[in-house]
Amino acid sequence: MFPSAFDYHRASSIDDALDLLASHSEAKFLAGGHSLIPMMKLRLAEPGVLIDIGRLDELKGISEDNGSIRVGSLTTHAALAASEALRRDCPILAEAAALIADPQVRNKGTIGGNIAHADPASDLPAVLVALGATIHLKSKSADRPVAAADFFVDLLATSLADNEIMTAIEIPKLGAGTGSAYLKVEHPASGYAVCGAAALITIANGSVSAAKLAFNGVTAIPFAADGVSEALLGSDAGDEAVDRAMAALAVADPMSDSYASGEYRTALARAYGKRAIRAARDRAA
Ligand SMILES: Cc1cc2nc3c(=O)[nH]c(=O)nc-3n(C[C@H](O)[C@H](O)[C@H](O)COP(=O)(O)OP(=O)(O)OC[C@H]3O[C@@H](n4cnc5c(N)ncnc54)[C@H](O)[C@@H]3O)c2cc1C
Repeated sequence: MFPSAFDYHRASSIDDALDLLASHSEAKFLAGGHSLIPMMKLRLAEPGVLIDIGRLDELKGISEDNGSIRVGSLTTHAALAASEALRRDCPILAEAAALIADPQVRNKGTIGGNIAHADPASDLPAVLVALGATIHLKSKSADRPVAAADFFVDLLATSLADNEIMTAIEIPKLGAGTGSAYLKVEHPASGYAVCGAAALITIANGSVSAAKLAFNGVTAIPFAADGVSEALLGSDAGDEAVDRAMAALAVADPMSDSYASGEYRTALARAYGKRAIRAARDRAA
């Protein structure tokens, strides 16, 4: 369980990190190391060069703009879970971060590493898709914003290009009348999501004016159940309306492994999607 030999460089700035990336083929950024190092020990990843970005303060922290919250890519899960700004204006992200693994993982693992690794069983991808977050990528020549829904392209694969670093994630603040909830069924050994459901509901004058439901753990990439969200619009979001809307859930190509079959994952999505919508509705009230 030893990784292959590799060279190590510590970046002193974002520009330095991009220069190092440009001058080394087969290089990987090292953030919290909680996905990359295990992959290297298993020889599932064998980068010849590690570029340690872990000390770049410019990639850390949570700041507020008028309508949005900007989270640096190197912000840890523990910082997300403890953030007053998120708890007030985007509680679903703090709620999901608090459910990740254990304190050791939450203290080292970062939001950027979590989504760049694109493990289908990670907790944050579905939340960011449901929120309509924007992921900011940077190369030596350009800044590139990517919608979270377009960022995840396949199992462990994203639209991050070989010459780019992720700098931040921008999240719209949830307004008054919007409730949110993230619920997960965790794998008993790893704590990763076998099924994670993220729901947002906005209720105005007694009826649903906006809704979003997204899942991770079920398919190779997080997916938004847009049929369910559309079916909720205009309803009172009562239990019967939620049941009717959930009938529109379609799961294409659910994952199957020794712990959970595709059929079981689909059943979990039906049950936990419903529960997440109900919880979001109750919080919107
Ligand atoms: C025992 C254990 C249990 C876990 N349980 C859960 C869980 O329940 N839920 C969950 O969601 N996660 C879980 N995780 C994963 C954890 O959340 C990690 O934080 C996350 O997967 C990777 O983040 P990291 O900062 O450690 O990234 P690293 O391991 O350092 O990097 C991961 C990948 O992202 C790339 N990368 C990192 N930062 C950037 C950047 N800024 N720009 C471009 N590329 C970048 C790296 O090059 C690498 O390819 C668990 C991990 C462990 C070890």
